[in-house]
Amino acid sequence: MQSMTNARIAIVGAGMAGLACATRLGTSGIRVTLFDKSRGPGGRMSTRRIGTRLGEVAFDHGAQYFTARDPGFIEQVHAWAEAGIVAPWPAAGADAWVGVPAMNAPVRLMAEACEVHWSSRIEALERHEDGWALRGAVALQRRFDAVLIAVPAEQAGPLLLPFDSGMAARADAANAAPCWTVMAAFADPIASAADAVRGQGVLGWAARNSAKPGRQGPEAWVLQATPEWSHLHLEDAAEDVVQSLLASLAAELDARLPAPVAAIAHRWRYARYGSAQDLGMPWNAVLGLGACGDWLLGPRVECAWLAGARLAAAMADVRG
Ligand code: FAD
Repeated sequence: MQSMTNARIAIVGAGMAGLACATRLGTSGIRVTLFDKSRGPGGRMSTRRIGTRLGEVAFDHGAQYFTARDPGFIEQVHAWAEAGIVAPWPAAGADAWVGVPAMNAPVRLMAEACEVHWSSRIEALERHEDGWALRGAVALQRRFDAVLIAVPAEQAGPLLLPFDSGMAARADAANAAPCWTVMAAFADPIASAADAVRGQGVLGWAARNSAKPGRQGPEAWVLQATPEWSHLHLEDAAEDVVQSLLASLAAELDARLPAPVAAIAHRWRYARYGSAQDLGMPWNAVLGLGACGDWLLGPRVECAWLAGARLAAAMADVRG
């Protein structure tokens, strides 16, 4: 593939990485089409809504907050802050930010500026003489000059393998730790001076979601098990996980918890990767095939944004 000008580009996965890549390509006048299996924006920064007798309660059920260290990402976060869609949340740390009114706000804003096909799981890629086709998409008959894979490594590997074994091997080398997460709503506040609690053993993290900036509604908590506990209890029943994490929070706070009006558990099979050596973003200019995602850099929102932006830059660097 020689030139990006007028190239037809598809991105599989419209999480932070895929949308950061699309946004950066867009600033160079390159339009892309995104496909995502979910019904709405967020990926691992998504927001879960649960109906309760107290009304609907929203939870940040993946990433809880994020930090910004890279100058480019700091600039982006300040732009989001000016737009009112992120705000500092000192309870998690002096440099912690959250989306407002929910964690998925930045991803939602980026998605609004792009052509995203939701509820579109891509099962496989096909390479034809006239370009790439995406099997599983509603628009299978469409052809693309380049396809970028912006999904978790475990799902990226099988898509990449038939075309670029080196790229697939990089994905296979990344392994995400699981995370059992419990979302619980209460009629009465939980007695805790802190809105964010870090633990060890069973409970790795607990946050009073309803205390984050811009949130409304009843008392809501998100509890995350440690990676070790999540791994050991991966196949446990969701109800048992709810009981274990609530008991662990009570022990951590040394308090009796009121009975929740709603409590559900979600198992993130692929939650967070380890830190990775920055080997550059995988981009095969001959085939028009690339990949991005947090798994290429580290287990943070910032890493996903950087991976997407850097893949777009790598593509621009090699264009003819
Ligand atoms: P994702 O957000 O996973 O986006 C990938 C997208 O691809 C998804 O929207 C998915 O629906 C889609 N997709 C997957 N397969 C297909 C397919 N076959 N076809 C079409 N679409 C597909 N980061 C922090 O900075 N701070 C934290 O405190 C923090 N806590 C976390 C806690 C948990 C429980 C989890 C799960 C993550 C946490 N993270 C945290 C990590 C952060 O959420 C991720 O680094 C970041 O959101 C990854 O973005 P991404 O775009 O690389 O991947």
